[in-house]
Amino acid sequence: RFIVFEGGDGAGKGSVLAAAAEALRADGFDVLTTREPGGTPEGMELRALLLSDAGHVWDQGSELLLMTAARVQHVTRVIRPAVASGQIVLCDRYVGSTLAYQGGGRGIALPLIRQLHQDFVGDYWPDLTVLLDIPPAEGLRRSRRRLADSATDEGRFEGLALDFHERARASFLAQAEETPERFMVVDAGPPLADVQADVLAGLRTWLQT
Ligand code: C5P
Repeated sequence: RFIVFEGGDGAGKGSVLAAAAEALRADGFDVLTTREPGGTPEGMELRALLLSDAGHVWDQGSELLLMTAARVQHVTRVIRPAVASGQIVLCDRYVGSTLAYQGGGRGIALPLIRQLHQDFVGDYWPDLTVLLDIPPAEGLRRSRRRLADSATDEGRFEGLALDFHERARASFLAQAEETPERFMVVDAGPPLADVQADVLAGLRTWLQT
């Protein structure tokens, strides 16, 4: 099964996903964790190009195509084969992030993003999306704190205006409303341990169905 974690910057996706993977492995599941952009050697190079603070200036169309390129590689080489072999795939971001950031945030038409997905990735959507919802002001506070503590230069998106992140959040929530049976929306405001426990309980229940 294919489970995606989505949410705004600073929502804690990475930590919640890692904790869920560890707990589900202890339950006996065969779990693969991966991320976007990234997930393949080609995707990691695209990630570095897209996210670095190195001064690259991407037009929004280029950004959409590079994000999609990373996804095409990822789905064909990593996600589909893993799901087909019976693994549970936990993926940090997927096309929901493209709909939210390049669509809601940048304003690229959603039908175009869906068409690109359909044509190059296929009709391939997560079985479940765990959406960690956080007000952007709080999320960005957390993520800037983390960036300041780390050696990464992945700061380009955190620097965007608050209303960009507000539109992305609204888009994530709209996606969840559109297909509620495929979403688990979790309030990411409480302490991380509580969010992790919420998500794990939800996942265990879902995996039994
Ligand atoms: O969650 P992660 O740290 O991997 O996200 C990296 C950055 O890329 C975030 O700031 C996120 O907002 C941005 N991003 C984006 N569009 C995507 C995927 C990620 O703007 N499709």
